[in-house]
Amino acid sequence: MSQTIYRKYRPQTFADVTGQEHIKRTIQNQLKHGKVAHAYLFTGSRGVGKTTTARLLAKTVNCEQWHSEVLTKDPSMLLSFEPCNVCAACREITAGSFLDVYEMDAASNTGVDHVRENIIEHVRFTPVHGRYKVYIIDEVHMLSPSAFNALLKTLEEPPAHVLFILATTEIHKVPATIISRCQRFDFRRLTADETVARLQILCAEEQVKVAEEVLRQIARQTEGCERDAESMLGQLLALGEQEIGFDEASLVLPITPTQISLDFLDALVRGDVSGAIGLLNSSLEEGIEISSFLDETVLLLRTALLGLLGGGLERFQTTFDEETAGRVMTLGKTWNTARLSQAIERFLDARRTSKMDVIPQLSTELAVIDLCSTIPPAAVKEEISISKPPKKSDDLHPPSPLVAENISLNTSASSEPVVFGDIPVIDVEEVRKKWPEVFQKIQECNASLPLIVRSGDLVGVEGNTVELRFAYSLHAETVNRDKNRRLIEEILKKVLGKTMYIRAVHTQESTALEGDDAVSTLLREFGGQAI
Ligand SMILES: [Zn+2]
Repeated sequence: MSQTIYRKYRPQTFADVTGQEHIKRTIQNQLKHGKVAHAYLFTGSRGVGKTTTARLLAKTVNCEQWHSEVLTKDPSMLLSFEPCNVCAACREITAGSFLDVYEMDAASNTGVDHVRENIIEHVRFTPVHGRYKVYIIDEVHMLSPSAFNALLKTLEEPPAHVLFILATTEIHKVPATIISRCQRFDFRRLTADETVARLQILCAEEQVKVAEEVLRQIARQTEGCERDAESMLGQLLALGEQEIGFDEASLVLPITPTQISLDFLDALVRGDVSGAIGLLNSSLEEGIEISSFLDETVLLLRTALLGLLGGGLERFQTTFDEETAGRVMTLGKTWNTARLSQAIERFLDARRTSKMDVIPQLSTELAVIDLCSTIPPAAVKEEISISKPPKKSDDLHPPSPLVAENISLNTSASSEPVVFGDIPVIDVEEVRKKWPEVFQKIQECNASLPLIVRSGDLVGVEGNTVELRFAYSLHAETVNRDKNRRLIEEILKKVLGKTMYIRAVHTQESTALEGDDAVSTLLREFGGQAI
């Protein structure tokens, strides 16, 4: 049944091919202008329509009706550049019995002898019935080097009546000499919307109602492979129901980890370690593979990240339906970009090691513990959110100098390590160790700035931001000034080998003393600016 659907509805016109608009348009344009190439190379992952398109091209160039129209009228006046599917040639090509269209699977015929006997020795003869002799070679990268060589000679000087269509899933294994003699088309995976639209057409043809959320799930699980999507739909239709919702579909479709992953992330952002680990283990008990659980979790985290970054980036998530995407984006707002990235990295690592671990979910569990333990308790979190300007955590960039004054840390806490909401991308001790070098480079570039920088304390690293604390707000402001800040950031990048931002803050209590130190006085005398 599953194969039947795919074969039964194999597109018989270019218009029926799902997606690949750029390829269809180019080929039809070439047909229109009578400029069909002698060799094409179709690349792309499996099940996205390469062979289907190859057969359509073979059919169109040999279609009798189309040719009679082309011959009698000006071809550019023709509206459609499609095979008629009625003439003998079209019907025979569809049935696979047309003598002038030769299909070969290079995976099972890799040798030079096969290529020589079936292709090379035949190309010079004119077509038996059609206008073109068409050779479709699937999985062409499987050919042996000598077979490629034999083919190359023919491709170098192809007879006018020959059309080669090579298809491959692994373009990097095809010799450059072959590639350069072909017109190359890159087939892309279908988007979720394209897959759903295609499946809806098939459902209508079969007169079965399948809930859109079920079709979306198929699209998600088959990742743009049309053949797999149609095969999965075929399994659903084989249930024999007239209407198929989630309940019926769950009998056939693999369990979707989306919902469980969402609940898992929900527990994670709440810092609920046992809840998250419990959900992970119960989903494994239900038969979900750890790899697909983590894939789904990472996809959700990416969606949350795109949502958090803003600027319309969320449109690049095409994996989830609106409701799921909306829910995960709301969850993501509880975190910031640094923490979301950290979680993605941890789960990707866990996925890589899961295959080697005695307990496959162990590294995921450890990641959960780490991620939850670095989440500040509610009280600390609130304190941080008060001490920071609003929405700062949503921002990749450091705050502008204007908001630096709003950031004030209590000096009573200065004897203790400062609690940050962001995970440092570099250890503060490493920054400290290299600070003299940073300082020296600042000296080399600017005469007065070092005086200021020296008066500050390196208090910590938050995400990718190095924080300096100053006793005087004027100093913090000076360091935060765009030009100075950029200079220090450039030097940090050179010395630390990482893009880092700088943020200068001042301690509230010291405001009263401000202006009493020599540097401030000096600065005022020189126009109040260290540049
Ligand atoms: Zn025809």
